[in-house]
Amino acid sequence: MNYAVNEEESFAERREEMVAQQLRARGVRDTAVLQAFLTVPREQFVPHNLRASAYEDAPLPIPGGQTISQPYVVAYMLSLLALRPTDRVLEVGTGSGYAAALLSQIVAEVYTVERQAELVAYARKRLAEIGCENVWVYHGDGSLGWPEHAPYDAILVSAGSPEVPQALREQLVINGRLVIPVGSSRRQQRIVLVQRTGANSYRQQHLSPVAFVPLIGVQGWEE
Ligand code: SAM
Repeated sequence: MNYAVNEEESFAERREEMVAQQLRARGVRDTAVLQAFLTVPREQFVPHNLRASAYEDAPLPIPGGQTISQPYVVAYMLSLLALRPTDRVLEVGTGSGYAAALLSQIVAEVYTVERQAELVAYARKRLAEIGCENVWVYHGDGSLGWPEHAPYDAILVSAGSPEVPQALREQLVINGRLVIPVGSSRRQQRIVLVQRTGANSYRQQHLSPVAFVPLIGVQGWEE
């Protein structure tokens, strides 16, 4: 009996259950998003001692006092971005690299920024292990975006901000979409969907309540 093969099959089954019970059952319909969740092994992105919990309906701790987000919340945010295969996307808050890996299955290019060096190394290692070649990880303050590669068709912010950073709005293409948790408390926010409608015009919708770790940076929270 090959233990590694059995373990992999069991993770694949749990991935299917996660997609059926946590995502489809709650209304996630975007087929590219669902397919990405079926493909990317979440167990590779959680700390080794938490692999058995990888498909729980919950965020899990990763190094640096941070979290890998709850799968449903990531699926919901990705669906709001209405992604297309040719898109170039910025993610702020790489964390484990899991959301960047999901994005890499859906779009052409993924640029992701993380402020903690330890997590930059953690994510790069895991993204390389699963063979992601269209993701670039940068160590810096993502509240300022990543101007060198702007503009982006879509921006996903995976940490909570007191307001929508102006730098991020300005790095969207016209008709581009930005999804970000925004709230006046460091631990509670609402998902905000911003659409750039013109050179200087944006439409903004406030959606579901969420609880993300804070976005710490020049256009986020203070250290
Ligand atoms: N997307 C991640 C994943 O799939 O594992 C989860 C992200 S975790 C909820 C939020 C991340 O944002 C943390 O890793 C944190 O260090 C990072 N972060 C906070 N402020 C940041 C900033 N200004 N720029 C870049 N990353 C930041």
